[in-house]
Amino acid sequence: MSIISIDGVDIAPGEHRQVMITIPRLCDWGDLRLPVHIVRGKQEGPVLAVTGAVHGDEINGTEIIRRLLKKPFLKKLTGTLIAVPIVNVFGFLNQDRYLVDRRDLNRSFPGSKKGSVAARIAHIIMTEIIAKSTHLIDLHTGSLHRENLPQIRVNTNSQPLKEMALAFRAPVILHSEGTESTLRVAAERAGCQAILYEAGEALRFDEVAIRVGLRGITGLMKHIGMLPSLKLKPSTVVSSMTQSSYWIRANHGGTMRVFKRLGKGVQPGEVLAVISNPSGIEEFDVVANQSGIIIGRNNLPLVHEGAALFHIASFDALHEAADSVKEMTECFDNREDYF
Ligand SMILES: [Zn+2]
Repeated sequence: MSIISIDGVDIAPGEHRQVMITIPRLCDWGDLRLPVHIVRGKQEGPVLAVTGAVHGDEINGTEIIRRLLKKPFLKKLTGTLIAVPIVNVFGFLNQDRYLVDRRDLNRSFPGSKKGSVAARIAHIIMTEIIAKSTHLIDLHTGSLHRENLPQIRVNTNSQPLKEMALAFRAPVILHSEGTESTLRVAAERAGCQAILYEAGEALRFDEVAIRVGLRGITGLMKHIGMLPSLKLKPSTVVSSMTQSSYWIRANHGGTMRVFKRLGKGVQPGEVLAVISNPSGIEEFDVVANQSGIIIGRNNLPLVHEGAALFHIASFDALHEAADSVKEMTECFDNREDYF
């Protein structure tokens, strides 16, 4: 069986190791390290990379990976799990999306050995993690003050990627070929099959988002042959796929009161929120112009004109998609069941 080597450390079949990869040094001369967990089964198989906090303030993924690494079923693993709970260590420390050089790491892939801080970290991820992996799940949340319904972003033109997305069983699958210079796109170009999970909000733990994510990774591992048939938590959540989504933006600045929760269905002409002059009497309705489900929402009541407020996904079978969201909430929002 082959040896997998991460940052010069050899990991043999059956081993579980943590490797701390040294990343570019900052002005204080201190060492910062990127923690990577490698869990190898005794049998050869797929190599799945799971990455969290590529945007340093998107911390649901970090918690999903922490819970994943505690799972007893990893003792029955076929192939290898490479888990990187905090890809953007600088952003995580600063509770910030970006890197110390104010660059977006997820617009810096595949990076280069002699480029910016962001490019160097991207290069380390590509050479030490992605080049050794057959599959990738990149875990994200909405950005600051924005909350996303659990959803997979994937290029559904590829049958294997589509099947990976379906195996995850998030309530929504949004077709997206991906943005240039993101980890997902760079990984796919490097021959690693990649999907992205978006759920929850930056700097918050969202229990449903975490549980759906953990279960999704488990389902995907089963699908690609890394785990034996496991009894997963019963769920009838069926993913609804869509190619079409749109953002509703603020036509006026002001303070906003929202009437519709994440995951709710909307109809054309429906009032979703009201923006008011905070020191006057003027009020302006925020109105949906197409039917769909709210898959992303701004949670900050202070809105400037042009701010993105609601992300609406359209579905051919809107009722089925809405039922799936309801099912997810009922199935995974059990606060008494802690991990
Ligand atoms: Zn992100």
